[in-house]
Amino acid sequence: MPNPLLSRWDTPFEIAPFASISDADFAPALEQALAVHNEQIEALANSTEPPGFANVIEALETPCRELEQVLGVFFTVAGADSNPKRQELQREFSPKLAAHFSAITANKALFARVRAVWDQRGTLDLTAEQQRVLMLTFRGFVRGGAALEGRADTRMQEIKGRLATLGTQFTQNLLADERGWFLELSEDDLEGLPDFVISAARAAGQELGKDTPVLTLSRSLITPFLQFSPRRDLRRKAFNAWAARGANGGETDNRAIAAEILQLREERARLLGYENFAAYKLETEMAKTPEAVRGLLMDVWEAAKAQADADAEVLTEMMQADGINGDLEPWDWRYYAARRRAAEHDLDEAALKPYLQLDRMIEASFACANRLFGLEFAPLDVPLYHPDCRAWEVTRDGQHVAVFIGDYFARGSKRSGAWCSAMRQQAKFPETQAPVVINVCNFAKGNPALLSWDDARTLFHEFGHALHQMLSNVTYESISGTSVARDFVELPSQLYEHWLEVPEVLQEFATHAETGRPMPKEMLDKVLGAANFDMGFQTVEYVASALVDLAFHDGAAPADPMAKQAEVLAGIGMPRAIVMRHATPHFAHVFSGDGYSSGYYSYMWSEVMDADAFAAFEEAGGAFDTERARALEEHILSAGGSADPAELYTAFRGRLPGVDALLKGRGLAAE
Ligand SMILES: [Zn+2]
Repeated sequence: MPNPLLSRWDTPFEIAPFASISDADFAPALEQALAVHNEQIEALANSTEPPGFANVIEALETPCRELEQVLGVFFTVAGADSNPKRQELQREFSPKLAAHFSAITANKALFARVRAVWDQRGTLDLTAEQQRVLMLTFRGFVRGGAALEGRADTRMQEIKGRLATLGTQFTQNLLADERGWFLELSEDDLEGLPDFVISAARAAGQELGKDTPVLTLSRSLITPFLQFSPRRDLRRKAFNAWAARGANGGETDNRAIAAEILQLREERARLLGYENFAAYKLETEMAKTPEAVRGLLMDVWEAAKAQADADAEVLTEMMQADGINGDLEPWDWRYYAARRRAAEHDLDEAALKPYLQLDRMIEASFACANRLFGLEFAPLDVPLYHPDCRAWEVTRDGQHVAVFIGDYFARGSKRSGAWCSAMRQQAKFPETQAPVVINVCNFAKGNPALLSWDDARTLFHEFGHALHQMLSNVTYESISGTSVARDFVELPSQLYEHWLEVPEVLQEFATHAETGRPMPKEMLDKVLGAANFDMGFQTVEYVASALVDLAFHDGAAPADPMAKQAEVLAGIGMPRAIVMRHATPHFAHVFSGDGYSSGYYSYMWSEVMDADAFAAFEEAGGAFDTERARALEEHILSAGGSADPAELYTAFRGRLPGVDALLKGRGLAAE
């Protein structure tokens, strides 16, 4: 029998025939698909035809159907419905796929042909999108090291290998420090803690084989402990252990590793012809330069610090009223902030939930997309990989746009978090293909299923990513949908969250599961007020981390990263009762891999943009302004990576994003 992963799918909308695929099909299908793709690449690399856009760049853009089918199905089920066999396959596939794709960018013969097309670019009469794809392809090869020769090439391979080892070591050391520390608690030590913290501490004790409850550095235990324990001595002990992760001396100390990683990154960037690692890293981002990143972060910093300083005074007074003199310390902040929150925002999560029914929130997300973009959603009966999955056909003016799949409920076989992926991305080359897009969440089941406010935001967030995929209207798949810069990809998703907060949307869709009544206005105000609580603290701890990350990579690598960190913090006047959200020895975003190195800023960058972009609707007359919606689709949602993100944003907004709307939204704007 032919392998169902490799056959042509004769199903409605060519959705994978999940029911006829078994786990035993994956490994042989991947082998075969990789072989097909390799043949395709080899034929391209060894072609004797004169290189041109069609036979080099478009040939590279021609998807390998077999490989896309195998990977599309495998990564969908490996994330959303795993089992031991699929986990084992994932461990097997990851290095294989990494090697496969890096061999393509390292292929000298292929690169020679790409370069030949690049060199003729001035005479090729290409569309703007084709020029962009050519530039991205050429740049991808150069950044992968394809242009390096001889010793430089060898050294690059050494550096890549060493960086991979160091990143793994950094992660493992951090894990060892997090697992190695615990504090046995007596019954007296549990005073003031909510039940869920006490039962978590008892469970942690049992897991460690102790008769007593135990405090560990697991985030779900340490954070509420610091918020709720009135015992300052214990908070101090716990906080210091948390803050010392990766810097405890001995075998698990990460400080020397961080220093070596920074040196190697700088060397790598220089080998590739960049001034430093930040210049290399930011080249592909919307921000483009360290100056742009620093400018944005500092615009936010001053306002956040002013708010945090004012909050510190309030918290210090609360502490002194408890009879404690002296300064507010980092182990005091969360505790007094939680007490202040309880006093100022008496939001009852349990009373809120019945207003947030999953099905009505799905309807709300669809209704907004209908008013903004004219999309219509009709339930679709297709067999999928799990009975909890639902599908809709998305149309506009009667024309098929996409298939949208929602897989909303938590289960043991699903990894945590929420995400959006495309089982098939939109493209018009070599033939038209409509997207198949999936949102995966981890909401609790129920009858009816009810969401928390955070859950409802997550639903809108992931649906915003889905719109970016579904409304994509480009020619080439490599720049379709969410294939954009890291500091641009969260714009559509975070922007879409704003429609959840539009009063008329909640009025219509946030209706009580039993009474059917809409959510009262006071409840909405409380929800929004609580969401902004302690923003000074949160913004300060985040921006400090982002500025240190940037300083590490912009310029010569510091011989002593800890000294550099101290210098940056002193320079910005870090408040004494707040520490970096991630100090260097446990800054996994930056040191476990390359993903967020000199890129930690991008969370804030996206938030600045989504606030600024939604303000465009408000300025134009409302959340459903037709003209703004049209511009959003034309310049951002349909454009994928077909142009530079700064150009796309400017086309939508008439200018680059500014921080005012973010500061206002976070309650940090000067009155
Ligand atoms: Zn996202």
